[in-house]
Amino acid sequence: MQEYAEYGDQYIDGAWRPSGDSGSITVLNPATEQVLATVPAGGAADVDAAVAAARRAARGWGATTREERTALLTRLRDGLAAAQREITSTVVAELGAPVGFAGAVHAGLPLAVATSYLTLLAEHPFEERIGNSVVLAEPAGVVAAITPWNYPLHQIVAKVLPALAAGCPVVLKPAEDTPLVARLFARLVHEAGFPAGVFNLVTGTGAVAGAALAAHPEVDVVSFTGSTAVGRQVAETAGRGLKRVALELGGKSANVVLPGADLARAVNVNVANVFANSGQTCSAWTRLLVHRDQYEEAVAIAAKAAEKYVPGDPTDPQTRIGPLVNAKQLDRVRGYLDSALAEGARVVVGGPEPLPELPAGFYVRPTVLADVTPEMTVAQEEIFGPVLSILPYRDEDHAAEIANGTVYGLAGGVWAADIDTAAAFARRLDTGQVDLNGGRFNPLAPFGGYKSSGLGRELGRHGLEEFLQYKSLQY
Ligand code: NAD
Repeated sequence: MQEYAEYGDQYIDGAWRPSGDSGSITVLNPATEQVLATVPAGGAADVDAAVAAARRAARGWGATTREERTALLTRLRDGLAAAQREITSTVVAELGAPVGFAGAVHAGLPLAVATSYLTLLAEHPFEERIGNSVVLAEPAGVVAAITPWNYPLHQIVAKVLPALAAGCPVVLKPAEDTPLVARLFARLVHEAGFPAGVFNLVTGTGAVAGAALAAHPEVDVVSFTGSTAVGRQVAETAGRGLKRVALELGGKSANVVLPGADLARAVNVNVANVFANSGQTCSAWTRLLVHRDQYEEAVAIAAKAAEKYVPGDPTDPQTRIGPLVNAKQLDRVRGYLDSALAEGARVVVGGPEPLPELPAGFYVRPTVLADVTPEMTVAQEEIFGPVLSILPYRDEDHAAEIANGTVYGLAGGVWAADIDTAAAFARRLDTGQVDLNGGRFNPLAPFGGYKSSGLGRELGRHGLEEFLQYKSLQY
């Protein structure tokens, strides 16, 4: 007997409407491999209808006052607050995130970001005098938001909330693996009472719905989070249409522990950082750089910390690490572990072998690799799984060279005896954000990448500005 939901509708123009395209996407629970639901595989018909609705809504929404937008966004924020449990259970089911982490981060972070945009909307100077000009910050137009599965609601909120706050209507195309939390979000938008067409949801594949949305002539801004390879394609398509584009892409971030730092804390925090969300975090510190004199000590600390991560049922509050999102990711991560062994790395904990105690689900062993050199594939490419590579360095120049020696530049960490030393080293890193001595994540700070990690910034004031364009009046 079938026990899963079959959804045939998309949220377009203020209502749930039957998809105009054929085909569906099957959503699996990655911990059990059971089917959770099917959702429409939208295509040109759904994308056209959604973009047309957004275009019709654009002028009216763009003309709303700050107070009108604040009232609706407050209702949406309150909806996110009231739905924390449902968000948590949805993300546990479709992503396999452990329930504790899902509640704190997958449900909690979007709420914090939504709240931050209420404050920013109240404070933002939408009008500013510069010399003999008054500069107006106006909505940048119809936004296409294309999001991945790894922080599925956070990535939606980090695009949709600032876009709506800026006065832009949005068409969202969420990832194939995690459409259910996107549908939940659409329901909350509907319940908040936004005018028809201001927010639209089209589920579908990247190759069909995502590509159609990024290429649509009536889309003005494409905000994309995902892999660097797809980001490049999206930017090319957007470039042909002269659309503005914001890209949040992959990473291979380094955590550099300088001599004199609290080594045990730096290593323990790194292990927690890289195993969070089963290692499926774009900003994860996947490379731990330690002075060669402290190398074996660091490896031993990491091994001890890593052994505490026993993969298991994400619905169990004791579980610290769940499965990967799908079979493709599992193959990919195991392939990288095979490459590490073939290239001479040492497996300290974990490895590519399957977990016999977990026959169902896309589980991989949380892994610590030592004797990793900067040229190895695992030190250069984004693995997107719970794999920490530990690399030795000779001196600070060498550490900076290794840290900067990939195509990416999204995040990083620096640990030193004092903050001034850590900050001085952080200035040498080609990366978008650096946490010093374990500095906490700040949802108001700009988030985004240098080099192949992206274009533009999300979150805070900088995230709002991605959805504004400027008109100057001289008088
Ligand atoms: P992906 O690039 O395959 O997919 C991301 C989104 O793009 C999905 O919605 C997908 O359907 C869509 N898409 C795929 N092909 C498309 C196309 N041709 N045109 C338009 N849209 C298309 O990435 P993924 O596997 O879903 O996510 C993992 C990747 O995302 C990792 O590389 C990770 O580092 C990156 N990521 C980056 C950030 C960040 O903020 N920098 C955050 C999360 C994830």
